Amino acid sequence: MTHKVLVLGAGYAGLVAAKRLARQVHGDEVSVTLVTACADFVERPRLHQLATGQAIERVPVAQYLRRSSVELVVGSVVGIDLEERTVTTVQDDESRLMPYDTLVYALGSNIDVDGVPGVAAHAWSLVGTDVAAQVCTQLRVLARQNGQVAVCGGGLTGIEIAAEVAECFPALRVTLVSGTRPGAWLSPRAQAYLARTFEALGVTVRTGAHVREVRPDELALDDGDRVPFELCLWAGGFRVPPLARVSGLAVNSQDRALVDGTLESVSHPGVYVIGDAAAVTGAWGSQLAMGCRTGGFTGPKAADIIAARLTGREPRQFRYRYIHECISLGRRHGLIQFLNADESPKPVVLTGRKAIAYKNATLNGAKTLFRHPGPALPRRGHLTLKADLTHAGRAQA
Ligand SMILES: Cc1cc2nc3c(=O)[nH]c(=O)nc-3n(C[C@H](O)[C@H](O)[C@H](O)COP(=O)(O)OP(=O)(O)OC[C@H]3O[C@@H](n4cnc5c(N)ncnc54)[C@H](O)[C@@H]3O)c2cc1C
Repeated sequence: MTHKVLVLGAGYAGLVAAKRLARQVHGDEVSVTLVTACADFVERPRLHQLATGQAIERVPVAQYLRRSSVELVVGSVVGIDLEERTVTTVQDDESRLMPYDTLVYALGSNIDVDGVPGVAAHAWSLVGTDVAAQVCTQLRVLARQNGQVAVCGGGLTGIEIAAEVAECFPALRVTLVSGTRPGAWLSPRAQAYLARTFEALGVTVRTGAHVREVRPDELALDDGDRVPFELCLWAGGFRVPPLARVSGLAVNSQDRALVDGTLESVSHPGVYVIGDAAAVTGAWGSQLAMGCRTGGFTGPKAADIIAARLTGREPRQFRYRYIHECISLGRRHGLIQFLNADESPKPVVLTGRKAIAYKNATLNGAKTLFRHPGPALPRRGHLTLKADLTHAGRAQA
């Protein structure tokens, strides 16, 4: 009987996981199916480029899967039954029940629009390509009127959006609103570069107060101040959708699934969780931040772990550390902050166009992994299915 592996989500984590796993197993023994709501790969770290009128590459997931045995199913996952081991998807009002033996959950995260009143109603957030295109239309109209844009959130996403908008639309008045100083975790050299770049781009930075409410045309801050805007872009942090928690997987307070050192759910053997959806502990002891690197490293690792278990080998534990933080500040300025093993910033930074080239190489490198998920992997034929990885099989072992 074929062992069915279902991979949910074709982002940085799921796409590589599916393709790399399929490459290591016999297709007649193990089937790998990738389920995604969106037929194209969405390069989320470039959505602010799309929102500012720059063309970004749109690659269908199917194209990345060429010459692989992974079956692609386009549909939204609406339910997971962890006891029956089935996933329900919906596409064009048609629902489909998909059984699995091994599940890889990689449904990612999204920008949190529910934490502060008024965000969902009055602010835009870059949650997908359609929204980014709509934001672009609004920004173009607003630029003709020297309009005012408020960007909320002093994390990497807010910093990148504010810089990109200011560079592409110099006629706009851009204010970045953040409770704490944007980039306060960076080295002093990087912080100084960031401040200089914002000044050069004409971005006003408003710190020291949190947004209490987003109103139709202004932000109400918790110190009583107000920031008027014609367009508000919200980047107040990521949130993992509740599906993992609702389905019964053990999760933390952010709804990220709890996993062990082999990326397997601590509550449900046979379920692996990767990318933003997983609470994975890094080598320095705390949780890996949400980011494409986390997906890019947990995806291949999960594939290797599952392939090892399917072939009766003991998998190696996941170990990973961040080495850098790549920040684009428009297309002329950028910042690469190199990191120590404990994630603290090194004094070493790379800036300017070299940093942009470095970041582009990193993002493009991730997509190269989708096409070539491991040139040094053992080819099919070297491995055979030896282990019963079903829940029953694992329980007996
Ligand atoms: C504007 C912006 C800029 C960013 N910049 C950076 C950056 O510079 N560096 C960085 O490291 N990170 C950045 N990020 C974050 C980064 O994009 C994410 O952390 C990363 O994409 C997470 O990878 P993932 O594979 O876990 O999930 P995703 O890439 O989110 O992939 C999730 C997949 O699951 C699918 N999916 C979701 N829900 C369902 C469902 N119910 N049914 C079926 N399919 C579903 C999606 O279609 C997608 O295929 C940025 C994000 C944004 C929005």
